[in-house]
Formats: sequence, structure tokens, C-alpha cells
Amino acid sequence: MSTVPVTLPDGSVHDIAPGVSAGEVLRDSLGKGAIAALIDEVEVDLVTQISSACTIDQILPDSEEGLHILRHSCAHLLAQAVTQLHPEAKPTIGPPIEHGFYYDFHMEPLGEEELRAIEKRMKQLVKQNLPLTREEHDAPSLAAMFSDNPFKTEIINEKLEAGAGSTVYRQGDFVDLCRGPHVPSTAALRWFKLTSTSTAFWRADSNREQLVRIYGMCYGNKQDLQARQTLLREAGQRDHRKLGKDLQLFHVDEMVGQGLVLWTPRGSVVRQELQDFISEHLRRQGYDQVFTPHIGKLDLYRTSGHFPYYQESQYPPLVARDLMAKLADEGCSCSDLSNLMQAGDIDGYLLKPMNCPHHIRIFSSQPRSYRDLPLRLAEFGTVYRWEQSGEISGMTRVRGFTQDDAHLFVTEEQIADEVLGCIELVEIIFGTLGMDDYRVRVGLRDSDSDKYVGEEAAWVKAEEACLQAAASLGVEFTEEPGEAAFYGPKIDFVVRDVLGREWQLGTVQVDYNLPERFGLEYAGSDGEKHRPVMIHRAPFGSMERFVGVLIEHFAGKFPTWLTPTQAHIITISEKHIEYANEVASVLREVGVRVEVDDSDSTIGKKIRTHRKMHPAYLVVVGDDEAENRTVSVRDRSGSQANGMDLDIFIGNLTAEIALRDPNQLIVPPE
Ligand SMILES: [Zn+2]
Ligand SMILES: [Zn+2]
Repeated sequence: MSTVPVTLPDGSVHDIAPGVSAGEVLRDSLGKGAIAALIDEVEVDLVTQISSACTIDQILPDSEEGLHILRHSCAHLLAQAVTQLHPEAKPTIGPPIEHGFYYDFHMEPLGEEELRAIEKRMKQLVKQNLPLTREEHDAPSLAAMFSDNPFKTEIINEKLEAGAGSTVYRQGDFVDLCRGPHVPSTAALRWFKLTSTSTAFWRADSNREQLVRIYGMCYGNKQDLQARQTLLREAGQRDHRKLGKDLQLFHVDEMVGQGLVLWTPRGSVVRQELQDFISEHLRRQGYDQVFTPHIGKLDLYRTSGHFPYYQESQYPPLVARDLMAKLADEGCSCSDLSNLMQAGDIDGYLLKPMNCPHHIRIFSSQPRSYRDLPLRLAEFGTVYRWEQSGEISGMTRVRGFTQDDAHLFVTEEQIADEVLGCIELVEIIFGTLGMDDYRVRVGLRDSDSDKYVGEEAAWVKAEEACLQAAASLGVEFTEEPGEAAFYGPKIDFVVRDVLGREWQLGTVQVDYNLPERFGLEYAGSDGEKHRPVMIHRAPFGSMERFVGVLIEHFAGKFPTWLTPTQAHIITISEKHIEYANEVASVLREVGVRVEVDDSDSTIGKKIRTHRKMHPAYLVVVGDDEAENRTVSVRDRSGSQANGMDLDIFIGNLTAEIALRDPNQLIVPPE
């Protein structure tokens, strides 16, 4: 019998007898470890027989392709365990995802105990070392095989070409419609864990059946799985929703409304300090501060295009009471009202979804000349968006939020400098917060699309300006064709926190559209009328989101300048109350945020209680301190300096705050 030549990754050619499996070739040449093979760049099962000349390579469990196959195979394992323990459950679909997999089942909701039982069953199935085998079936055979599962039947009827067959994978008593490839046996699936359940809808359609989604994570080795578990545990401890409550930073109240954040006094300190800091730099960069109301007339948003086009993401309009009464008298129905509003026949107000239209009307409130440009209008402007209730979360997905917003009205020639200025501000603020790990995405046009407004030459220049500004940061940046808005290119900021998680913050966007819609103009040096270009920028997104991210980044231990309580003074006994109050008042005098605990708890108990709130410094005063006008200071790491002269402490503390240093500096290292 003739052999076939098989080329290995190192270029060597081996003559193989036809019928030998890919797994055998790989094992003999490269050793054990592969979970699947690549034949002529196509992923296949290890049992695939080689029949003609080809190239071959192995897929290892730790590679990107390998993890994909492991996670997909783990989804099958999950479905096998679920159907064994819950025979009434109907598996629907179960894809691999980042870090793991999920599978959606039509079944009764599951509790934590049931989830753990499923995981235990999966481990038993791994021990049984069940082979996963591929079978080909024609359409009638598939229909019969899945006749008790309406979801699989729907897939077979709709997704497969009429009358076409497909492959299935079988492991023990379980069979699933699937193209593969898969690991050779359940024994390859050791490093997984089920993480949570949620609800989903069949075909993501809320009118269809509600399903139970089970999530799991899966890795190629024990270390990676453990590292992921540690990370999730740490992330849980840093969760801003938990810390926000424990540290009394914010509150969301059902009676006020979902997604509407109440900033409590301690959280307000953090926000105010950040706003002051940002404002200080805005003034240096020549911004003008403005204030605008929280609502605006529908006509304003008809002109801007926000109404009626983005209605689903807005709170419904407000209509004047007398107009409502008049319409009701006329027998106007809700749908009539909605139609009249859409048509512009009646007016109302909208909670503002964006600050831009208000700022635009400030620009056009007086004649502008080239000497007024660039005009930079900044506002911590609160906007309202109707997020679906399922999407709302803590401070990061909310229905009302305050953007660190500004609109720059510029000439075409000024775009490059102004975009650069926006970027410099981001650099300063991230630098001050010690968030050095961030990247930038530059959204450019999709060259095949004609959805963009504005002149070709202007776009070329603006894109160039955004790319140059991004490059000047000296951080990682990517060009993303097709990601520009229809009205202009943009720059997005993505910050990585200490756990390596990425958070999308705000943007800088060039806009040729709104100046056109509002007919903005300025008198040029040539005496002619020209149209300005707008730049929208909210580099940190919103104060809610930014502070939410900061809480997690710092695990609630803010740098001293941002900390709600900078010095927490604790008395050893009631003899020291007077001195404690004196220390507090001199500190307050120089602007330090202080609290005094003069209760009669033990000193140990007081220290433990207050450390939980992460004050920058705990200041203990007793006999020695009162007598010598000193303080004993502890920082967050527990390091201590005893008998520090009060004036020296005050001088150091105020300097540390003024420097906005991300580290604590006062207690000398031991
Ligand atoms: Zn599959
Ligand atoms: Zn804007």
C-alpha cells in the first residue's frame, strides 16, 4: 500500500500509511499533549484519519485555539451532567466565551446547591474518561435523534440547509448537535469551575422561552484556573457596589429610582475633590465654565436629532399640564399624543440626554468671530438615559449621570492642537491618580461606507490629528477603522486597573454634523462666514463611572487628597478629649478633613473600627502627646510614628494633600 507525505511544523516530511490518525502522527513526532490537530490549517479531532498529502500541527490546551476547544467541550460536559441530574431540562445552545463557557437550558431555575451538584457530576464524568465521538447523520436521522427537544429541532429546521445532514458528538449517554472539533475524552477537561447562573431568552428574544444560563470557567492547567479564581475573589472584595456601601460613599434608593445615584457625604467629598482638580486644569487650558438646566424643549432635540431618533434610550418627554388637559378634553389618546409629539405639532420638554445642544445655544447666543475661537465651554453636566433595568449596576451603569463634559468650537486649523490639549488633560489626571496603565483607541472611517457627513479633506485632516495626538501620549494605541461616529473621528480611553481589568472611560470626538444642523457660523479674518467644527470631550465619561472605577482601583483606599476622612483622631481616655479637639481644630483650620472619636471604647477597638473606613491616617492622642503637643500617627499599612511634633505632622500632611501624591508619605518607613 502506498504512503502519503505529511509535513510537520518543522518542515520535515513523513510518509504515513493512509488510515493513521492525526493523533498518532502527532504523538509519534511531537509527543503527547495535543487535544486536537490542525490538518491543512483546519481544526480537527485527533481521531481524524489521514487520507492524503497534508500539513499537520498540534493544538495544545493552553493555546488560543486549544482553550476554545476545551471550553466548548466543557459546555458539552455541563449539558451531559445537567441532563443526567435534571432529565426534564432541554439543552439549547452552549458556546465557549472568554475565560470559559455557558450553556442555556429550558428548565426550572437552579439554586446554588444544585449548581454545586452539577459541578460534582461533571467531575465524575471527567473521571470516567468518556470518549467524545463524532458521527455524521442525515436530516431524518437528526430529526429523530432530537425529536424531544424543540430547540434543537428548531435549529435543525432553520439553520441547516433544507434536508442537509450534520454531525453530532456523543459522550456516554449524551449527544449534541455540533460541528466540533472536541477533546478526545472527558479526561482532558480537568480545570473548570461553574461560576453562576442567570436568565436568558431563546434566541435573545424576550417574547420567546425563558432559559436558565449556566456559566463556567475553564483553563488548560491548574495554575491558570487558580489565578483566575484569585482574581475574581479580589475583584469581589473590590466591587464598588460592596465598598460603596461599606464605606458609605453612595446609595441607590428604590424610592428615588433605579439607576439614580445618591452621593452621600463621604462619596461627595471624593467627587468634589476630583471636580476641583479637573476644573483647576480646565482653567489653565483656557476653558470657560458654564451651567445649563437639566431639561430642554423638544424642538432643541429635534434640531440636534436626539428626538425622536434615540427615544428608546431617553426618559419620556414632559408635557405641560394645561396642554395635557386640553388634549384629554379633545379625547386625544396616548398614541395620538405620541404622534403629535413626533410630528412636532405639540411641544414638551426632555430631560437632557446630552449637554451639547445647550452649549451650542450658548455659542450662538452672540455673533462670533475667529477671534473668539477656540471657544471651550465646560460643564459637569448631568444627563439622563433610559437604560434597561437589567443593565443597571452600581455606579457604572446608571440612568442619571454627570459627565465631565466640554464642547470646543474651533476652526479646522485648530482641531489638531485642541485634540492634543484634551489628551494632555487625560495624561495629567491619570498620572496624578497613579493609573499609568491605559490605552487609547482611535476610531476612523470605514473606507467602504458613505454614511459619513463632512468633507473628505476635512476628515483626512481630523483623522490625522487624532492619530498624532494619540501617538504623542506614548501609550499603546490602536487604529480602529469603521469605529468613527458618522459625524467625525474619535479617541476612546480604556484604563486597566490593578487587577488587569479594562474599563472603558470617556472619549474625545470631532463633530462636523451638529454645527451644520444648528447652522453655526463665525466671521473669519477674510470677513466671510465660516462654519466652526465642534469637539465633544468627556475624557472620564461620567463622575459616577469614574468614581466607581476609582473605588475598585484603590479598593476604597483613596490617595490622601481624595480620602473622605484624612485624619481620624482617637483619644486614649477622656482626659485627652480637650487636646484631641485642639488637634482637630488646627487641622480643620488648614483644610484637613478630620473626625474625632472620643467615645469610651478601648483604644484597640477604636482603631479596629476606624481602620475599616480607610482614613488616610489614624492619629492617637494620650498623656505623652497632650503633654508634649505631639501626635502618634499610623498609616494604612499599619506603620506607626510615635511622638511626632504636631506642627511637623500638620506641615507634612498639608504638603502631601497639596501634592496630590498617590502614595502616603508621612510615616517614615521602619
Ligand atoms: Zn459542540
Ligand atoms: Zn457633546
